[in-house]
Amino acid sequence: MPSVPDTAPGARPPAPSEPAHVAVHNVIHTYGGAAGVPALGPLTLRIPDGGFLVLVGPSGCGKSTLLRLIAGFEQPTDGTITVAGQPPRPGRQAGVVFQQPRLFPWRTVRGNVESALRYAGVPRAEHRDRAEALLQRVGLAQTGDRRTWEISGGQQQRVAIARALAVDTPLLLLDEPFAALDSLTRERLQEDLRQVTAGTGTTVVLVTHSVDEAVFLASRTVVLSARPGRIVLDLPIDLPRAGRDPDELRGLPEYAACRKRIGHAVRAAAAQPTT
Ligand code: ADP
Repeated sequence: MPSVPDTAPGARPPAPSEPAHVAVHNVIHTYGGAAGVPALGPLTLRIPDGGFLVLVGPSGCGKSTLLRLIAGFEQPTDGTITVAGQPPRPGRQAGVVFQQPRLFPWRTVRGNVESALRYAGVPRAEHRDRAEALLQRVGLAQTGDRRTWEISGGQQQRVAIARALAVDTPLLLLDEPFAALDSLTRERLQEDLRQVTAGTGTTVVLVTHSVDEAVFLASRTVVLSARPGRIVLDLPIDLPRAGRDPDELRGLPEYAACRKRIGHAVRAAAAQPTT
C-alpha cells in the first residue's frame, strides 16, 4: 500500500495555494478516547469550489466519519477542518443527505421542504414559491400536496435532496444517498443529481461503496485505506460527458479504465488489515 497518494498521470489535484472550499488538514479521528477505535487519518484533503468529490473505500474505513466531520456533526480528535475558511457549523454551511430520507411523515412533501427553508432562516413569505422551485428542480413538481408515505422510496430521497438544497449553501454532503434504492431508481437519481448540481458551482462530497457510482458522478474520486482511513488514491475523473447519455458514458473505454483503477485500489485497501 503506497503511503503517498497515488495520483493519475496528468492529474491535477488542487495545489496547496488554490482556494479550497473544504480544507481538511492532518485530521485524525478516534472514537471513544485514546484507547478507542481509530477511525480516520491522518488525512489531508483540499476540495476546491465546484468540485464533485466521491469518497470510496472498504466498509468501516471512515468515509461517513469524514463526512460528519466536514458537516460539523463531530469534532476531529486532532487536526483542523474549515469550510469556506471557517470551522464547520452544523446545519448552516452544508446541505446533508443520508441513506434514509429522514422526512417528517406528518407533513406533506411541500411541508418537508418548507421546514428546511424555515430552519435555513428563509423568510416565511418566500417558503411556498421556494419549495415549489426546489421540488421542480428535483423532478417532483405536482407532488407538493402528497404525504411522504404516499410516494416511492426514490421520490422520498428526491425530497431529501430538495431539503438539502434548501439550505442554499455552496456545499452538499451525501452519505450513501442511493444505497437503499433499486438499481433502476438509483441510476435515474444519479443522473438527476448530476444535472441538478452541474454548472451550479456547488461543491459536492458524496460517500459510496459503489465504484460505478464514483466514476459516473465524480470529477474526482478519493479512495481510503482500511480503517483508520487514509488516502490511497486521488484520481481526477475527466470524462467527455457533454452530449452523452448515461449508457454512452458507461460505454467509453476511459470510463472502464477509471472503474478498473478505482476498483483495484478499493480491493487492495479492503485486503489490508485494520489497526
Ligand atoms: P464507513 O462510512 O467507511 O463505513 P464509518 O465512518 O461509519 O465507516 O466508521 C469507521 C469506523 O468507526 C468503523 O469501525 C465504525 O465501527 C467506527 N464508528 C463509527 N461511528 C462510531 C461511533 N459513534 N462510536 C464508535 N465507533 C464508531
